[in-house]
Amino acid sequence: MLDFSISPLLNPTSPDERAAAMEQLGFGTLFTDHMVTIRYTQGQGWHDAVLGPREPIALDPAAAVLHYAQEIFEGLKAYRLPDGAIASFRPQANAERFNQSATRLAMPHLPEELFVESIRRLVAADADWVPDADKGSLYLRPFMFASEAFLGVRPAREYIYCVIASPVGGYFKGGKSTVTLWVSHDHVRAVPGGTGAAKCGGNYAASLEPQAQGIAKGCDQVLFLDAVERKWVEELGGMNVMFVFTDGTIITPPLNGSILPGITRDSLRTVAAEAGYTVKEQPYSFEQWQDDAKSGRLKEAFACGTAAVITSIGEVRSTRGDFVIGNGDGGEVARLLREALVGIQLGTRPDPHGWMTTLA
Ligand SMILES: *Cc1c(COP(=O)(O)O)cnc(C)c1O
Repeated sequence: MLDFSISPLLNPTSPDERAAAMEQLGFGTLFTDHMVTIRYTQGQGWHDAVLGPREPIALDPAAAVLHYAQEIFEGLKAYRLPDGAIASFRPQANAERFNQSATRLAMPHLPEELFVESIRRLVAADADWVPDADKGSLYLRPFMFASEAFLGVRPAREYIYCVIASPVGGYFKGGKSTVTLWVSHDHVRAVPGGTGAAKCGGNYAASLEPQAQGIAKGCDQVLFLDAVERKWVEELGGMNVMFVFTDGTIITPPLNGSILPGITRDSLRTVAAEAGYTVKEQPYSFEQWQDDAKSGRLKEAFACGTAAVITSIGEVRSTRGDFVIGNGDGGEVARLLREALVGIQLGTRPDPHGWMTTLA
């Protein structure tokens, strides 16, 4: 394991200032005092691991990331447990996925223990920024980008890995408990053989124009269909989807290479099966979705991901018609599964799968 050089901020945010800043938590607008940076140079490997003050990064204008978007990231949370300890949910799974993303973007792997250690170091330095469990959590954002100054097209030879942290409340603004989705029929997020299964910034860049169109239609988020037949439900710009039927079945689209393998999705498959639901990974078409919502066979639908955990889908709009799911204001299965998962994450329910890792 690399040695970390530790240089804490000399004048950290005062407790009063921090308490005031953490009064009204949003998502991703408030940041802690510190960051982790580790550099990679081909031939030398990972070096110069630093836990230091959070500050701007100086980059050469020719840095490859600014031109060819060689960038990947992760998102996970640190929670304050009832006994005061701070823990994270399946950080090892994020470390593994980070390296799968790295492979797809032709970037170097970061040893999994170094990924987890980097989070540990940051959380230890910024422990006071982890909100109380009833207020929120500390969102951790590890990311890596090509820093080599070079305009030719090839994998860069220098990278910077960072972790920053942001105290967060709920992900979606306002008191509304459901989201309205816009189903895009003319844009796709990812294609077979593309980068859809990698957590890279480029996928998000491609989702922003359809997202803006959805917002113009009064929707909160966009749901993307498959790129080939434009028929099969894939996922949202940043969350997976699940469908709950009256017969106790839950369907989620299979990981086909263009869907991001969500850790929330994976964990919910287990939690839902334990709660007595039959969980199937099965292709589900937009047309079938429309029919099932209208016939009432579909009871609920929800989006899932680390940031918002589970968000019920109340209404769906598209150029091919609008429909409401259930009574339009969410459902009991989403609530039950959310409580089950959040209970494990906050340490108020048993953790039979050993999903929690104590960080500090
Ligand atoms: C991160 C992400 C998800 C959710 O993954 P989790 O591990 O559950 O947070 C789903 N879809 C996309 C496109 C994502 O980037």
